Amino acid sequence: MNADTDADEIGGVHIKYLLHCPRQLWLYSHGYRPEARNEAVAFGESVDDTTYRRHADVDLGAAKIDWVTRGAIVHETKSSREPSPQHAAQVLHYCLLLARRGVNVQGGVVHYPLIRRTTKVVWDASARRTAEATEVSARQVITADGPAPRLPRAHCRGCSYRDYCWGDS
Ligand code: SF4
Repeated sequence: MNADTDADEIGGVHIKYLLHCPRQLWLYSHGYRPEARNEAVAFGESVDDTTYRRHADVDLGAAKIDWVTRGAIVHETKSSREPSPQHAAQVLHYCLLLARRGVNVQGGVVHYPLIRRTTKVVWDASARRTAEATEVSARQVITADGPAPRLPRAHCRGCSYRDYCWGDS
C-alpha cells in the first residue's frame, strides 16, 4: 500500500480522524500532516502534557495510551470542552489493542480537565465488536486508492486540513 502508515498499525488518531472525516484519515495516513501548525492541536497537546504529567504513557506502537490504572482501566485526556463519541471510540480501540495482548481490560475513562468532567467507557463483548468494526473501517479508508470526498463545508470548521481540501489558509 502507498500509505506511510501500515494498515495493521491503527492508532487512536486514526480512529479519531475516521469518525471525524474519512478523508482526513486518508490524508493523514498518506503523509499529509498539517497538525503541527494547528493551534487547536498544539493546545490540546499542552493540556495533555501538563494536566496528568504524573502518569506514564503506555506505548503500543501506533497507539499511545495516556495511562492505564490498576484493574486495566484505560484513561484518555482530552482538551475538548465537550465529550464526543470520537473520544470514546479512541478508548475502545485502546481497550481492543490491550485485550489482544492478553490484558483483562475492565473499561475506560475519558478525562476532560477543562470542564472537570469524566465519562466512562464500557468494555464488553458488544464494545469489542464495535471496536473491531471501527478498525476494519479505518483499514478500508487507509488502503483506498484515493481520499474520500470532502464533507459539506460546514463540517470542516476548525479542521486542520482545510487548506488542502478547500484552499483555506
Ligand atoms: S477540511 Fe473537511 S473534508 Fe477536509 S479533511 Fe477536514 S473535515 Fe474532511
